Amino acid sequence: MTDQMDFLKTAVRNKRSELALAIRTQSAQLSVCEGEHDVLDRMQSMSRRDESVAVMSTLTRTLADVDAALLAMKEGSYGTCAECERPIASRRLEAIPWASHCIRCQEVLDHHKYRRVAVAYWDEAA
Ligand SMILES: [Zn+2]
Repeated sequence: MTDQMDFLKTAVRNKRSELALAIRTQSAQLSVCEGEHDVLDRMQSMSRRDESVAVMSTLTRTLADVDAALLAMKEGSYGTCAECERPIASRRLEAIPWASHCIRCQEVLDHHKYRRVAVAYWDEAA
């Protein structure tokens, strides 16, 4: 168990530096997009920027999970689902060491998220 904890801790820390680097790279890309005058260039850089923003939001969300996992490790609450407070399966933690929810709660969350996204698009189209 301690060995597994060490392994998970290292995995979460590694993920954290990986994310921090990716976020830096993405935000650098965002600022490079400024100052293009040609309409076509502008449109291309705008769609690139949309992509970067989407990537950024995924990265920062994951970073929040990673930070929460590190905090939970410190406080000894690591491996407990944030929703139902049941233990998260160790197989799930091995796959995603920064998982904040058990597989069942995560499925419910994902379901809600996708539905919200679908509704947002529908509103825009209307
Ligand atoms: Zn749960």
